Parts: sequence; structure tokens; C-alpha cells
Amino acid sequence: MECVGARDAMIQYEGDVYRPPSEASSLIVQAAIGCAHNDCTFCSMFKGKRFRVRAEDEVIRDFRAARAAYREVRRIFLADGDVLALSNERLLRLLGEIGELFPECERVSFYGSPQDVLRKTPEELAALREHGAGFVYLGAESGSGRVLENVRKGATRNEIIAAIKKIEAAGLISSVTFISGLGGRELSEEHAIETGRLISEAEPSYASLLTLLLDPAAPMYEDVRAGRFSFLPPREIAAETLLMLEHTEIEKDCVFRSNHASNYISLKGTLPRDKARMMDELRAALKAGGFKDERFRLL
Ligand code: SF4
Repeated sequence: MECVGARDAMIQYEGDVYRPPSEASSLIVQAAIGCAHNDCTFCSMFKGKRFRVRAEDEVIRDFRAARAAYREVRRIFLADGDVLALSNERLLRLLGEIGELFPECERVSFYGSPQDVLRKTPEELAALREHGAGFVYLGAESGSGRVLENVRKGATRNEIIAAIKKIEAAGLISSVTFISGLGGRELSEEHAIETGRLISEAEPSYASLLTLLLDPAAPMYEDVRAGRFSFLPPREIAAETLLMLEHTEIEKDCVFRSNHASNYISLKGTLPRDKARMMDELRAALKAGGFKDERFRLL
């Protein structure tokens, strides 16, 4: 258990808590523990936790503790892995409580799996937005059906596209992550092309690229140890990203980032406007090198 705040008003955390990089300054409260899917082979985040919805009174107690500890809370991130799996009734009650306790809060965000999104009706998603929900962070990982199957994502390419479109249609903001190198060398080209095409079709507001890095607790780690899967070196990752960007044909603005601690090269821009500039940056790196040293990459 980890605690924050005054001695008589502490936020309780169970196990390791994860949040997207853009929620670094947000108040984090666990509304659920773990991930309902918990089967992706590259992921070790919640392998030690069994998914459960946290008791409502415990979550509200944490909100009150945070209110007592912090003068201003502009953003709240509800952890853990897929809070959108909670019933809409529960989510609306939590958002209502946040609205009363933190009137200055500008947005409440959480992770949601494609299946969580597809289970909600458009009206339910719109109700979440009306009550303060902002970003839904969704791990798509790849646009290739074969890669998704290999890593046991639990969602098809079409389900991922439908989920992203549904989030955006409800007025929520989708922030979608993909993982460079996830297909290994064998599926690298397909992974790149199909990911570019998925971004084009689904049109998320944000698309972020991480680069594959495995914790020994991730099931895929065993494939690497056994020689069944190989990481791509930085040059091949850059070539894969270049091919992916080449296959994005998006009309709506999409903020594209590959500036996570796991990435060999940092890119940031808005598609379609900055596509050519980011591709030039990748071509320059392929010529001159300058990739992040392996020792400085982090999950
Ligand atoms: S990647 Fe996301 S959906 Fe997959 S096991 Fe990890 S937290 Fe769950």
C-alpha cells in the first residue's frame, strides 16, 4: 500500500499503479484493481493482480482524502487497467462525486479496452462525457490482425476501429497506443502498413507509438529467451515507423507522438500536417544514426 496526503486523510493504493505519460500531473485514484483482460503477452502491468471493481465507499474515501490534501485538482485519472469496464451507473456516481468535491476539475480520464467501449451504448458514452469524462486511453498495439492474435490482444482490428470511432462520436477523446516492433521481423512490414491504415480509418485524436520492451514477467519474454521472437534493432524500428507513417492518410487532425521513454527516436507532430517533416526526421536518423542508447530506454 502506498499513501499520499495528510496522516488522517490518505489515498490508498494497491500494488503498482500505472498511468499514461500525459497524466503525470493528475490525481490518481484506483476505481478498479488490475485489468479484466490481463492476457496480452507483452504486458506485465497487472499480472500479479486479479481484476475487481473497488468498493465504491473506498474510492470516495480516497477522493475525500485527496480533497483534504490538495488545494487544486485539475485532472483526475481513474486507475487501474480498464475502468471503462465498470457499469455506467457506477461511473456516473463516481463522476458525480468528483464534480461535487472537485468543481475545478477539468477532465477525468481512464483506460478502456475495445471490448469495454463496444459494450457501452453511444448514449452511455455521451453521458460519461457530459459528466466530466475526457480521455479514453486505448491500447490498440497494432493494425495487423495476425499481430493482434499473436499477442492475445482479445480484440480484432475491426473491433478496435469501431471502438475508436465510437469514443470520438460520443465526444470523448481517444488516445490510442501502438507498439513498434511488436510483430518481430517476420511481421514488421504488415504491422507497419496495417497500423498506418488503422490510424487512417479510425481517426483517433491522439496516436502514440511505444517501442517493444519486455519485463521478465511478460509471457512474451519467454519467447525471446527461447529464440522464438527477436527484438528489432533501432534502424529497423525507424524503418518500420517510416513505413507506418507513409501509410497514414488521415484528414482529421491526429496528434502523433513517439516520445515515450521506450522509443529510440522521438517524434512529435500533428497528422496530416507534420507527416512529411516526421518522415524526413526518420530518414535523417536512418542515414546518420543518433538513436537512444539501449541503457536509457524505459518501460
Ligand atoms: S495491455 Fe492493457 S488490456 Fe492487455 S493485459 Fe495489459 S493492461 Fe490489460
